[in-house]
Amino acid sequence: MRKRIVAGNWKMNKTYEEALTLVSEIDNMVKDEVNGDVTVIVAPPFPFLQSVGKLTQGNDRMHLAAQNVSEHESGAYTGEVSAAMLKSVGVQYVIIGHSERRMYHHEDAQSLYKKLKTAIAQGITPIFCCGEPLEERDADRHFDYVDKQLHDSLSYLSNEEFDNVVVAYEPIWAIGTGRTASSQQAQEMHAYIREQLSRMFDAEAAFKCSILYGGSCNPGNAKELFSQPDVDGGLIGGASLKSRDFTDIIKSF
Ligand code: PEP
Repeated sequence: MRKRIVAGNWKMNKTYEEALTLVSEIDNMVKDEVNGDVTVIVAPPFPFLQSVGKLTQGNDRMHLAAQNVSEHESGAYTGEVSAAMLKSVGVQYVIIGHSERRMYHHEDAQSLYKKLKTAIAQGITPIFCCGEPLEERDADRHFDYVDKQLHDSLSYLSNEEFDNVVVAYEPIWAIGTGRTASSQQAQEMHAYIREQLSRMFDAEAAFKCSILYGGSCNPGNAKELFSQPDVDGGLIGGASLKSRDFTDIIKSF
């Protein structure tokens, strides 16, 4: 059985007090309302990681993610945060290759590969994001586009390294736009991703890999999306900033 995951990417939102309030609310709702084995992940901004992590320590369903990691191990890289630093404050997951980082921070495939390696070496599970822009979908090149993203960053990992990777399919045209991929569009891309992974790694590893959907997922559409056989959960942006909405998404399994 694959791990079912709902991860909230808070992006550059919330002050310290607001972050603690949000995570406390989520933590309580998850304890009170969520049955079953869903892995819940919150990805607050860097300065809040340790405090947010401490608040969720007693709840083994709640996990901590960073939104980014340096490709470098340590040294003179002003403003960067290493995987070892993240590990030392209790981070278990890290989002790598989000479209906003690819777009605004010019992260390329090689840099993403290095980030994957450094996270995995520290025992931190990468959530590797992929997804096509609208023009690629309109031109019916979305499968090739995503295949290249997977190939260019993931395929150089060993089977053992890949074992712990989570993949998130996030079509760029659906992120923060209110326009969600249909469950059919999500399912066909997730199945395609799994098939490509089974060519790069062994079939069992591909079968075991959790593939999350991201892009305007909300309490109204999560159930339908999560009911697809290759959709193993969601990476949630906007709706993860509201404890009620985020919990209702978690409860959609
Ligand atoms: C995201 O940025 O990862 C995301 C899925 O955002 P939203 O849910 O707001 O579309």
